Amino acid sequence: MTEDNPNAPAAPVVEQVPVGLLTCQHTPYLRNFTTTVLACSKKPNKQKLYEVQLQDTILFPEGGGQPCDYGTLNESIEVKNVQRVGTSHVHHTTAPVEEGIEARLEVEWKRRFDHMQQHSGQHLVSALFDQIECFTVAWGMNATRCHVELSKAPTPEQVKDVEERLNLYIRRNYPVHVTFTEERPPTMPKDYVGPNGVFRVIEIMEDLDIVAAEEDPLGLNATLDENGEKVKKGLVHLDYNPCCGTHVKSLKDLQCIKLLHQEKIRGDNCRLFFVCGQRALNLLQETYQVTRDLATVLSAPGGPETFVETVVKNQKQSREAFKQTKNLYKDLATYVVRDWAAELKEKNPILEDETKGPGYLITYHREDAEMDYLVLLTSLLKDQELVKGGRIFVLSAGDKKEGGPMIVTGQDEGLVKSVAAEIVKHVEVKGGGKGRWQGKSKSWKGLEAAHAAAETLVQSA
Ligand SMILES: [Zn+2]
Repeated sequence: MTEDNPNAPAAPVVEQVPVGLLTCQHTPYLRNFTTTVLACSKKPNKQKLYEVQLQDTILFPEGGGQPCDYGTLNESIEVKNVQRVGTSHVHHTTAPVEEGIEARLEVEWKRRFDHMQQHSGQHLVSALFDQIECFTVAWGMNATRCHVELSKAPTPEQVKDVEERLNLYIRRNYPVHVTFTEERPPTMPKDYVGPNGVFRVIEIMEDLDIVAAEEDPLGLNATLDENGEKVKKGLVHLDYNPCCGTHVKSLKDLQCIKLLHQEKIRGDNCRLFFVCGQRALNLLQETYQVTRDLATVLSAPGGPETFVETVVKNQKQSREAFKQTKNLYKDLATYVVRDWAAELKEKNPILEDETKGPGYLITYHREDAEMDYLVLLTSLLKDQELVKGGRIFVLSAGDKKEGGPMIVTGQDEGLVKSVAAEIVKHVEVKGGGKGRWQGKSKSWKGLEAAHAAAETLVQSA
């Protein structure tokens, strides 16, 4: 169609099926479908995807708390995003497509069916909490969990009761219907405006005849009509809520619902977490695997029932071991300092009133020790008045590869400083301090060279 030639035949105007009447919404179990490309952007968007308008779709555009579907277009092109714009829909694809051609769509079914299970499950969860006046103000779904935000926290007994009823309704396999309403629901998104918009409603009905058959299998209390036939009790609403999502056809497809924990949020509100269907099985498998792994790690072959007992026992043992180690280090420090005292008495004697003396270096490294132990050694050195004259003590601890703490101490502050300055040339250690130099290294590579350099420096002092 051109404006230049008013006599040219008008191209057929194919309208997009509006969101609300999409094939994914009225036939959500359809996995393959053919439609027509109405338009495609000339250039990719910021996400490097082309924006394509199809006439209709089996890929759900994100909305109502349900994430969008993924799928393929003409086998090789991926659909990575589907968005609603007013009442129209846009598919974001990895390649451009020609206007007017046929578009064969395939939905990533595993993802979609999971969304259907969680979304229909949420309607049922909200419906049952509604009955005990815990109203749903919001809901959400991430990759593994769902939650409803309730206006009031239910008690543990209420949660247990609701969970039992949720799974009872699944066993009764009540159908999930989609209907329409004339009046615009107040919860409808404000931007849901455009040509041919409709207002969808999801209905889950309780079948009172199924309930009666369970409670009175022989029908002894049934009311009979004039012909002796049982009078039908009919259906009552469990759920009746505006919704654009894709839903399971009946509750058996939910398989099961497991309510999880609660979190307090915004005043009296609470977030109650839950999983439906395959997610519940996945969670069970993960949890089961963790308990199996824990049983090995904890050496608790008795399984989960013995975990707490085993951990309590292990904690007690570790506290005792810690105390024991501390005492042993104390004893060790006493022996080490006693040896140094003997060594210094023989090789670096200093008279009582002498403040200056010849330089003498003592180096010490212990791989399995920490800072506490080095501090203990320094305080023993001080108590026994061994830090005198030109004596320098270079103490360090920690694994060769992982490094650890270091203390350089001596009476001659200037000498301490220059020894530390020499050490940092050889090992990767950072530190400082007045009088006593204290540092921490990332590795003890080069420690021997550092000791040798310190020896040379102290000898010449
Ligand atoms: Zn919904």
